[in-house]
Amino acid sequence: MWSESGNSHKIAIDGRDDFQELNWYNPAVHEAKPRPGPGMLPPLLADEIHDPEHALYSVNVMARLPSTTPDSAQLAPSQEEARMAIPHARSYYCAEYNGWVLILWGSSSVLPPLARTVENLPDAARRKGTTSCIGDGEQPFAQVNATHHWHRYERAVDSRNLSTPFRHEEETPRLLDLYLCCQCSKYCMVSDVLPGVIPHNVHQAFTHDKWSHPPPDRTPKGSVMAAWETMLTILENRLWKDEQRSLPVTRPRFQHKLGWNNTVRNIFELLGFPAIKKSTATTANMSSAVENLSLQPPNIDPATPEGKHIRAKLLRAWVEISAWLAIYRKSKGDLGNYSSQVICVDATDVREMYQEEIGAHVKQIPRGLLPNDLVNLGVLDDAWRTLGMTPSSYTWELLGFAYQAQCRCDPLRTPLYFTKFCQIVQMLANVGKASPPLQQLIHDERKRHRYTFDDLRDSIALLGFGQDDGLGVEFDGDRLVLDAWRNARRRTWTDPERGGEMRMRLNAALKIIADTRNRRTLESAWDRAKGSMYVCL
Ligand SMILES: [Zn+2]
Ligand SMILES: [Zn+2]
Repeated sequence: MWSESGNSHKIAIDGRDDFQELNWYNPAVHEAKPRPGPGMLPPLLADEIHDPEHALYSVNVMARLPSTTPDSAQLAPSQEEARMAIPHARSYYCAEYNGWVLILWGSSSVLPPLARTVENLPDAARRKGTTSCIGDGEQPFAQVNATHHWHRYERAVDSRNLSTPFRHEEETPRLLDLYLCCQCSKYCMVSDVLPGVIPHNVHQAFTHDKWSHPPPDRTPKGSVMAAWETMLTILENRLWKDEQRSLPVTRPRFQHKLGWNNTVRNIFELLGFPAIKKSTATTANMSSAVENLSLQPPNIDPATPEGKHIRAKLLRAWVEISAWLAIYRKSKGDLGNYSSQVICVDATDVREMYQEEIGAHVKQIPRGLLPNDLVNLGVLDDAWRTLGMTPSSYTWELLGFAYQAQCRCDPLRTPLYFTKFCQIVQMLANVGKASPPLQQLIHDERKRHRYTFDDLRDSIALLGFGQDDGLGVEFDGDRLVLDAWRNARRRTWTDPERGGEMRMRLNAALKIIADTRNRRTLESAWDRAKGSMYVCL
């Protein structure tokens, strides 16, 4: 174990079954030991949870003290309102989408209540045996697996059935994707992006407009800050000052900070502030029509269902705008002499936290070790994804683990995984960055009769068939293959120089076709033939 040669290139993986892997093509063998299917490594899971370019934030609302009355204190929500404002204690805000993502993770051998029948769950006993594949204390000698192997169960958990249920306005249930590691008790549940009150295209249009047309006394960033802060103030005045007067859009302050166009109108309509024409006099031209418009604040009396609904919506919008501003303030850009207002919301980037929880943090899995020539190499995208990996997390051990874990957990597709694995290893060699341990692994795997799709094509051709000839026919197929193989072998005896090698190739081709078709008849012919090179069938 300690030597530099031989075993030092061993890949940490457990739970493999040699008999099952050698009989990968036979579904009957897998019935005795069901496997969960394809999996993925933590860096790919991290990308699946949320766009890797976006940060997610935990949003903390600073509520006013219970003793202070709304009008005497700063404009801030009560403790209860602060709780209501955020969709769920485990929801995280994305400023790019102006939306939320629910992420729950933990370690449990008990599954959450499932919203549908889920087949091919990982072996429960195996998951129960280890709290986590990664981490201190759990495995006293060394990690038995290089990393987690995550399996996805799409839309398997109803968010209303969580231990802290997630409730929302719509009737249709929100379903979360469930991820389970097949080697340990770790789980993770993730929602789609739950859109904010202001859809992100409207949000972006407004921000972009303020950025590209700043008032003369503001920088672009200052213009954006001032506009959203004005929105925030309007909401705060409605929520905590009971401001009910309508807002004339023509006022210089309103025009200066927000302006008036379809996007602004759209945002106020979404917030329940319809634009109403104040004057009854009909006006001939557009500019005077604008002059008469006023925004009518909504009824937010919690005693009425409608008021309660709008109040909740305004609270949500308030927390979203606050969080967005808190994040935006930290971003690059010159504020000029603009001094931003106090925001009662704190946004903390949680990306590193959840990445660590699922095993994808850079201190757990290093990034950037893939040779440069293979970075952004589109032809390999499918290979990486099939193996459940991201190119940026390449190390030889992780790639070897990814391949072996797929074969372990999804044996029926072994040739697919071997094909993709060989593609990447070959490409590494092509750019002069060959990986000896991975080439050794390919060599060892070939001895276990692993083949690629190219090998299969060659084998079919070697026996004299076209891709589709006969081989698809259920009953005649075997006889045709055997006849072709016997005839080809017979011909080899006339070539004393290359006959022996040719027979070996024919035998290998027969084995590949037998495995592809899962055929005992072909398999036993191959079994008899491989024993002796000189048997003439
Ligand atoms: Zn695990
Ligand atoms: Zn697995």
